[in-house]
Amino acid sequence: MNKSLKLTEIENTLYDVVVVGGGMAGTFAAVAAAREGASVLLVEKNGYLGGAATAGLVHPFMPYFERPGGKIANAGLFTELLRRLHEIGASPSDKSCFFNDQLLKVTLDRLLVEAGVSMLFGCMVGEVDMDGESIKKVHAYSPAGKISLSAKIFVDASGDADLSAFAGMDCRVGRPKDHLCNPMTLNFNLANVDWSRWDKYEADKNYRELKAQGKIRNNRRDILSMTMQVGNMMHLNSTRIVGKDATDPVSYTEAELEGREQMLELYNFLKNYCPGLEDCELVSAGAEIGVRESRRVIGHYILTEEDVLGVKHFEDSICRATYNVDIHNPEGEGTFCRYLPHNTYYTIPYRCLVPLGSKNLLVAGRPISATHEAHSSLRVIPSASCIGQAAGTAAALSAKHSVAPENLDVDELRNVLVNNGALV
Ligand SMILES: Cc1cc2nc3c(=O)[nH]c(=O)nc-3n(C[C@H](O)[C@H](O)[C@H](O)COP(=O)(O)OP(=O)(O)OC[C@H]3O[C@@H](n4cnc5c(N)ncnc54)[C@H](O)[C@@H]3O)c2cc1C
Repeated sequence: MNKSLKLTEIENTLYDVVVVGGGMAGTFAAVAAAREGASVLLVEKNGYLGGAATAGLVHPFMPYFERPGGKIANAGLFTELLRRLHEIGASPSDKSCFFNDQLLKVTLDRLLVEAGVSMLFGCMVGEVDMDGESIKKVHAYSPAGKISLSAKIFVDASGDADLSAFAGMDCRVGRPKDHLCNPMTLNFNLANVDWSRWDKYEADKNYRELKAQGKIRNNRRDILSMTMQVGNMMHLNSTRIVGKDATDPVSYTEAELEGREQMLELYNFLKNYCPGLEDCELVSAGAEIGVRESRRVIGHYILTEEDVLGVKHFEDSICRATYNVDIHNPEGEGTFCRYLPHNTYYTIPYRCLVPLGSKNLLVAGRPISATHEAHSSLRVIPSASCIGQAAGTAAALSAKHSVAPENLDVDELRNVLVNNGALV
């Protein structure tokens, strides 16, 4: 079980590492740091781990292997997760990209509990005290009021770079010309699908006809649907909410409302116009809208599209990634994909995790230092997870050696990652 702690005890503890955000990146960061011997506290605003993968009903895991050859690019904690999901019946094989999101929650809980990580759910970090370039205290808001947390090293795994922004780090939002981000999407699942009669071509044709008649408000050009491994279900990643900013609560609220309207519109369309879906039922949707992109922190290096497509291998690489550039049009229709050469991977340098101007902060997951284009590739779950493992390891080592993350010996970090099976 999560160690039973009193709030006063938590507030009086100087942790080696405090991780803000328990998405895939934050969870992996916390596990990696704790396995490296650090005392770790993870703070999460939801009541469970997984972030977009659970709260946003994202499905499936994008490839973590070179394509088309299938050679694994990153092992480490991510392959351990795949194995453990399979062991409890949450996926069809230990290499499968399909998973049961409820059992993913349980598996992530267990990883943290077994590693001895202390957890605080239902707490939203909203304020930071600085001491020069160091974070002195992080304040989280909870039903018990404000909780103040101290650590030698903090990891910002909040997805939206909340902690970095509160700490005054330089951040960018969206693409340079207008700061528009990849659109948000409310994912949902349909049950009772007759796959033998489902016809994607027919569905897209009917959808476009209704769209041309102005009867569909959704910004997507076509239907993005996926099979699920259970119960004749269909996964829909097909709503598209453009022009909203996840870091502005007014804009975010509008996005949530629009997402649900688009979900209902799509459900009605699919049921009434698509063979095989006449009897389908809308059984689940993300507890919150999926945010693909928001703030990105400026670090000691900014990963670019040229690095991704040029499959650059950096000396301080801490993660290998294989997913393509995948930009969902921030203005409306269309998705722009650009692919890596066959059977290659690019790497993410440690410097992208280290914000400029901080002495005790690391960033993990989708908000690391990258351009809008490079971000569209590295944001997927396998790379976000592996970045998390690297950030947690780096945080533990920085705390152990009492050095700022920017001064950490990267060879030592890489050796630990290799020994732990990451960076195969
Ligand atoms: C619609 C959509 C479809 C996608 N499709 C795929 C796909 O098919 N396959 C794939 O591999 N990837 C996909 N992705 C990408 C992937 O899901 C995410 O980029 C990835 O999960 C990000 O992980 P993360 O841990 O960096 O951030 P997040 O998952 O965003 O986690 C951040 C966590 O921090 C918490 N948090 C935020 N702010 C605070 C705060 N102030 N205090 C405390 N806690 C906080 C949040 O509750 C959350 O749990 C998709 C994303 C979206 C949105």
